Amino acid sequence: MKTIIEPFKIKSVEPIKMSTRKSREFYLKAAQYNPFLIYSKDVIIDLLTDSGTGAMSSEQWAGIMRGDESYAGSTSFLRFERTIKNLMGFEQVIPTHQGRAAERILFSVMVKSGDVVPNNTHFDTTRANVEFQKAEARDLVIDEGKQPSFEHPFKGNMDIKKLVDTIETVGVSRIPLIMVTITNNSGGGQPVSMENLRQVSEVANSYNIPFYLDACRFAENAYFIKIREEGYRKKSIISIVKEMFSYADGCTMSAKKDGIANIGGFLCTNDPELAQKEKDLLILTEGFPTYGGLAGRDLEAIAIGLTEAIDEDYLKYRISSTAYLGKKLIEIGFPIVVPTGGHAIYIDAKKLLPQIPPHQYPGWALACSFYLEGGIRTVEIGSVMFGKHDFDTGKDVELAQMELVRMAIPRRTYTQSQIDYVIEVAQTIYKNKNKITGMKITYQAPFLRHFSAKFEPISS
Ligand SMILES: *Cc1c(COP(=O)(O)O)cnc(C)c1O
Repeated sequence: MKTIIEPFKIKSVEPIKMSTRKSREFYLKAAQYNPFLIYSKDVIIDLLTDSGTGAMSSEQWAGIMRGDESYAGSTSFLRFERTIKNLMGFEQVIPTHQGRAAERILFSVMVKSGDVVPNNTHFDTTRANVEFQKAEARDLVIDEGKQPSFEHPFKGNMDIKKLVDTIETVGVSRIPLIMVTITNNSGGGQPVSMENLRQVSEVANSYNIPFYLDACRFAENAYFIKIREEGYRKKSIISIVKEMFSYADGCTMSAKKDGIANIGGFLCTNDPELAQKEKDLLILTEGFPTYGGLAGRDLEAIAIGLTEAIDEDYLKYRISSTAYLGKKLIEIGFPIVVPTGGHAIYIDAKKLLPQIPPHQYPGWALACSFYLEGGIRTVEIGSVMFGKHDFDTGKDVELAQMELVRMAIPRRTYTQSQIDYVIEVAQTIYKNKNKITGMKITYQAPFLRHFSAKFEPISS
């Protein structure tokens, strides 16, 4: 059969409140034209993020009931630990409340002021946690990974030459670890090849530098290796996962992604001394090492979610449904980042809306249009998010490289007909794209302004 269907049945449903365009005009204005400030009850399809927004399975809900809430030595922790050891092969497993807590603990222990941490592309919390240690977060993704319209099967790959040059010029003593993010979230959810992971590990080994994976979407990355990399077609996902992790000395993970849980994360290493220091810090802010800021029931949900995320039928559906939305948007005429990644579609708003100059935020204007037209919430990844503002002159002094709008797909949450609705809304927006006008910021905070800024449309 050619038709790929959702490989699950729905057992529990959550109603969506339908709304009219007129009411959405009111909601958007009340939210000062900032989609982050819209109430979720007023959103029809929420594509703001795939983090913690997936649907849990009946097995996960059963695990929630089974959760052992003992403070120390919880059975749920043992199940969590066993699952991760079996899948990823690390000796030490430290639970945390989210990915960023794992990052903070790892970098507090390993990174010192003046260090440089290479990565293909740092995710924003990873970058912030490196910089918080007064170190530099350096992005070394291949050049192809920075061009939205350039087709390449593994646009998340690390540039090996740049990595070696960085080590040679900075010096080994100032590089505490090398990281690779799978898949490369900030670079369009693009995968990293097995060959590239092997090469990075060879470089890391030859300089005796620890190699860590930011493993949030490890299962999606494994599926891309299976379908795109020579020699992996016939391999099982679990064997690909095991090989990927065999090259690394440790990992950080947000279980809100490929853990298909609503909260949670973990940190792994093979180094017992390092793990001891990490556990000491864990106790300070997260909790005892057998729960780390999570409830026993969360540990159960994550252990089960991790095994469901590597199911091949699930991954085929997951990657195909993202590709389906991407293909339809391309057919309509939308310029998007190609090839489509695992968890999201990124629309190039600068190219779509040439009438709006970057300092009038074309991505933000497009995100507002998706909400007005169909109650669809997306997120701008452009100059509102990354621009730098000078409060003395009242002007932006730095704009983003790209003006993108991300449509992130929550796991197992929306059906194909709901995605078809998104496509129909996109068609209407495309037809009227010349009428979309720019935006003006009327209030902004000095940092992370996108979360709380207020806007007005610029009338043409
Ligand atoms: C989400 C994410 C993180 C941070 O995880 P949280 O659970 O949100 O703290 C780190 N790295 C990547 C690549 C992510 O996608």
